[in-house]
Amino acid sequence: MPVDIAEPEGKALILPGTICKAYNLCMAKEDLSLVYDRDMIDARVATLATEITREYKNLNPILISVLKGSVIFFSDLIRRLDFGIELDFIRLASYGPHTKTSGEVNIIYDVTLDIEGRHVLLVEDIIDTGLTVKKALDHLNKRGPASIKLCVLIDKPWQRLTPVEAAYTGFTAPDRFLVGYGLDYAERYRNLPEIYALEK
Ligand code: 5GP
Repeated sequence: MPVDIAEPEGKALILPGTICKAYNLCMAKEDLSLVYDRDMIDARVATLATEITREYKNLNPILISVLKGSVIFFSDLIRRLDFGIELDFIRLASYGPHTKTSGEVNIIYDVTLDIEGRHVLLVEDIIDTGLTVKKALDHLNKRGPASIKLCVLIDKPWQRLTPVEAAYTGFTAPDRFLVGYGLDYAERYRNLPEIYALEK
């Protein structure tokens, strides 16, 4: 039986063991439970694209993907935007255990476009403590964009260490470690089309 978890947007499914039925990944060391299936993800991405279109249609924005985790979400999202945009990428690294962000976050790949005076939408996979996205926003804000907002696929607001708010949120997720749809565990599982929780 799926366990219902109340959330503002989209309801998380927790379907233990689904991964072994759907994919030949039984060799994986970890057990995975399905949390968001393809239909749920597609529906949320479509809704976010509609909201973003409403706000940015005439602003020729720069959309910046935070590497690597947001790339699948980013590519699905931008293909639903039928107005002029420019793309860029930023990559940050945090040093700590596999499933937690440490206090130290560094920029290891920077945007190449000039964002001064431009409307910027930063697209991130997950906000957990908020430290990663705060570092990216502070860094980009120094370049003088006309505006900068955040679009996040998954918000996990349970362990925030710094206050950050997304203008656009796909799902508010349970406090679990998630993989798939771009999200990794030690670089694995990024290519799964759905989002799963890693079981201990
Ligand atoms: P924060 O700095 O907000 O704690 O964490 C943000 C980054 O940590 C995300 O960009 C993501 O790379 C990673 N992260 C946080 N929670 C998860 C999770 O549940 N699964 C995965 N795969 N990465 C996560």
